[in-house]
Amino acid sequence: MPNMGFFLGVVNGLGIFALVTMMYGLALRKAEPGLGRSLALGLLFGVGASLSIANAVELAPGLRIDPRAVMLVLAAPFGGPGAATVAALVTSLFRLHLGGAGTMGGIANIVTIAAIGAYFAHFVFEKMQPARTRDLLLLGLLCNVPFLFILTVPVDNASQIFLRTIGPMTVADVIGVLVLGRFLCSERKAFVFGRALEAEASTDPLTLLPNRRHLERRTSEMVETARRSGQPISVLVIDIDRFKQVNDTYGHDVGDTILLKVADVVRDNVRKSDAIARFGGEEIVVAMADATPEAALQTAERIRLAVDEKIFHGEQESGNVTVSVGVATQQGEDLSFKRLFKAADEALFLAKDRGRNRVEVAI
Ligand code: GH3
Ligand code: MG
Ligand code: MG
Repeated sequence: MPNMGFFLGVVNGLGIFALVTMMYGLALRKAEPGLGRSLALGLLFGVGASLSIANAVELAPGLRIDPRAVMLVLAAPFGGPGAATVAALVTSLFRLHLGGAGTMGGIANIVTIAAIGAYFAHFVFEKMQPARTRDLLLLGLLCNVPFLFILTVPVDNASQIFLRTIGPMTVADVIGVLVLGRFLCSERKAFVFGRALEAEASTDPLTLLPNRRHLERRTSEMVETARRSGQPISVLVIDIDRFKQVNDTYGHDVGDTILLKVADVVRDNVRKSDAIARFGGEEIVVAMADATPEAALQTAERIRLAVDEKIFHGEQESGNVTVSVGVATQQGEDLSFKRLFKAADEALFLAKDRGRNRVEVAI
């Protein structure tokens, strides 16, 4: 008959699951995909498995089980092969630290469980993730197979321990994988959904350029850095010439297509580190960190020329679309995006006034 200690052990196990789930969400949000995230998730699953080993539940006198396999088998499906490797390493080191007759068998067991998770994530699950209950059930059942390693432990009653333990352990692991798997699934879903919402909220749906909100966030970071380093920031305000007339003559759909093409040209002619946005209507703004007035002017000219040469109202090459560009550069302590934008916008006004299809630099 399971005693009070058993139930407390189960509650502790659920506590570890909850902790792992919380930290999993945090790691997804804070660590960029790549080595850093693999390491963070690997540590998380490894520490979870080690805590599980330390928190083994006494099912009956002399019969102890723990949910280490749950964390290990889920490490690859929810963290990738890198995380599974780190998790297996961390757990193995902890097992080594505990020592005892079954150490080598225990480590072989740990590594094999993580490898089973990695195999299923890579070859069996759609999109490498266990999304359905059936997938989790499969993992829960299979994570007990490596428990066969207990038969290699040099004690008299190894096969007896195996037979007495395998039943309850399978049940516990299947339930554990279903519970923790569901927790992790919903945490991951929340993360993916949040990211998609964030991207949607900062993207212009027509040109797929970042929007004004995004630009303001990027430029405030840029300004902070530039103030500290003393490097200049340049801003280009790009506006399509006589766009209202284009809409009136060729229709709004053609106008939309032209706007899209202009956005592509601008995107193709700036650096990856530049912040670019559809600022409103038919205005595109580029903020360039560490760009001298000469470099900014060069970029503006390149964009102006590319639009003039590549974009047309209709099929025929007469009737080019053109843009005017205002450029401004600032550096030093009192750098402000607002002032930079205002200066570039005034330069744009000058470019329109002086005949359009030209670049003007703010004084
Ligand atoms: P200017 O050379 O002085 O810039 O003349 P303009 O006609 O381009 O300037 P104005 O600001 O008067 O007109 C901008 C026009 O841009 C008005 C609006 O119909 C059009 N526009 C703004 N957003 C969109 C859009 O998403 N799609 C289309 N097709 N037109 C848009
Ligand atoms: Mg215009
Ligand atoms: Mg305009």
